[in-house]
Amino acid sequence: MDSESHQLHMFFIPFLAPGHMIPAVDMAKMFAMRGAQTTIITTPFNASLFSNTIQRCKNSGLDIDIKVLKFPCVEVGLPEGCENLDLITTPKDANREMVVKFCKGAAMLQEPLEQLLQELKPDCIVADVFLHWTFDAANKFGIPRLVFHGTGFFSLCGLECMRLYEPQKKVESDSEPFVVTNLPGDVKLTRKQLSDFIDQRIGGDFTQLLIECKASELKSYGVVVNSFYELEATYADYFRNVMGRKAWHIGPVSQCNRGTEEKAERGNEASIDEQECLKWLDSKKPKSVVYVSFGSTTNFAAAQLMEIAMGLEASGQQFIWVVRKKKNKEEKEDWLPEGFEKKMEGKGLIIRGWAPQMLILDHEAVGGFVTHCGWNSTLEGVTAGVPMVTWPLSAEQFLNEKFVTDVLKIGIVVGIQQSVKMLGNFVKRETIQKAVKEIMAGDRAHEMRKKAKALGEMAKTAVEKGGSSYTDLGDLIAELSLRRHSALN
Ligand code: UDP
Repeated sequence: MDSESHQLHMFFIPFLAPGHMIPAVDMAKMFAMRGAQTTIITTPFNASLFSNTIQRCKNSGLDIDIKVLKFPCVEVGLPEGCENLDLITTPKDANREMVVKFCKGAAMLQEPLEQLLQELKPDCIVADVFLHWTFDAANKFGIPRLVFHGTGFFSLCGLECMRLYEPQKKVESDSEPFVVTNLPGDVKLTRKQLSDFIDQRIGGDFTQLLIECKASELKSYGVVVNSFYELEATYADYFRNVMGRKAWHIGPVSQCNRGTEEKAERGNEASIDEQECLKWLDSKKPKSVVYVSFGSTTNFAAAQLMEIAMGLEASGQQFIWVVRKKKNKEEKEDWLPEGFEKKMEGKGLIIRGWAPQMLILDHEAVGGFVTHCGWNSTLEGVTAGVPMVTWPLSAEQFLNEKFVTDVLKIGIVVGIQQSVKMLGNFVKRETIQKAVKEIMAGDRAHEMRKKAKALGEMAKTAVEKGGSSYTDLGDLIAELSLRRHSALN
C-alpha cells in the first residue's frame, strides 16, 4: 500500500444501476489499495449486493466502508424495494421514465448526504454523472466533485461533439448517415442509432435532466474515466486538450479484482456455482468458446431469444450464453427450442440470471464475445483480449461499437441499425450464425485475435506499477492530497 494519500478520504456515490455501481465499487477499491480511506454511499438493497466484496476488502486491510441511505421508492412512484434499474421489468423503451424516477428519488438524498459530508468531511466525492445535485451538496462544504460517466474517451468525445455541433440535425432523415463533427476518425452514425442521451427531441423531464447533468458536470472539478491511455490516446488527448476537460484515466478498474472469489462475486451473486462454471470451461480447448451476454438490464423478447439459440447452434461453436430469466420449474420456457439444452449438453451452457462475467472472460477457453457494447463489458472484453461481435442496443453503445469495429478493429457488427427505443430490431438466426462463426473461425479471426491479445496485455500493464493508469491515479491522489494539505494549513 502506498502512503502517498496521507489518508485522503474519498466518497463514491454511484447511480443505482449495475453498470454504474460495479465500476464505482472497483474504483473505491483502487483508491483504498493506494492508501485512501473510501466510503461508498448507497441504498440498502444495493449495499447488500456488495457486502461480501466490501467485507473481503476489509479483511485484507483496506480502509473501505459503505454508508446506507434509505431510497424513497414509493415517494417517486417506484415499487417498494425497487432500488436498482436492474429490477425494472418495463420494456427497454420505457427506461428513460424510469431513469427520471430514479434520479428524482436520488435527488431526495441530498439532505442526508449533506449530513454525511458535514459529519465525515471527505476530501473529494466521485459521483455519477446522473447525480447532478451532488455538485451543490459538495460545493456547500468546499469539497470537490469528480464526475464518473461510466464510458470511455471515444464516446465521451463523440457525445460532446454531437451536443456542441449537432450534426444529427443537418440530415434529412433518421436513416441518413452523418459524420460526427470534429471527432477524429470520420465516425458516421444515423439518427436512428442515437439514444435518448443524445436525441434531445424527446423533450420533457428526461431532456431537462440531461441539461442539469451537463451543467453540473461542467462546474465539477474533473472527470474520472474507466479506460487506459494506450487504448484511446487520440480521444483522451482530444477530451483534455481540445475540449479542455480535466480528466484522469484510471482503468480498467475491473483489474482490481484478482482472486477467483473476488471475480465471481463481482456485482451480484452468480446464478451458477463458480467451480461448476470453471470446470466446464477447463474442459474446453483454448479460445474455443464464445461468450454471449447483453449486460445487466437487457430483456429480449422470447422470439429473439429463440433466434439466438438457433443461431448459436447453427454456428457450430461452443458457447456460454447469459439470459436474464430465472428458471421457474412449473413454467414452460417459451424462449428456448424444445430439448435445446439436452441437445447442447457439453457444447453450450446457458446461465439464467447473473453470470460471473469477469471469471468467464478471463478464462483461456473463451475466444470471442457477443456483446451489447456497454462500456464495462467492452472494456472487459478488451482486457481479456477477445474479439467481439457487436450488438448495441441503447445509450452510447453505438459509439462503443464504432470504437471496437472501426478504431480498434477487433470486432464485427451483427448489423443493428437502430436503438431499441425504436421498434423493429430483430436479428435473424442466419446473421447470428454468420457473425459468431466469423469471430471464432473466419478469415479475419486470426488477425483480430492477435490485435485483441495485444490490447489485453496493454490493459493489464496500464494498471501495474508504472503503467499509464497507475500513474494517472497516483497523480490524482497527489493533487487531492495537496489540496487537502493546503486546506488544513
Ligand atoms: N455483468 C456480470 N454478469 C452478468 C451481467 C453483467 O458480471 O450477468 C457485469 C459486467 O461484467 C459489467 C456490468 O455487469 O461489468 C455491465 O455493465 P455494461 O456497461 O457492460 O452494461 P449495462 O449493464 O450497464 O448495460
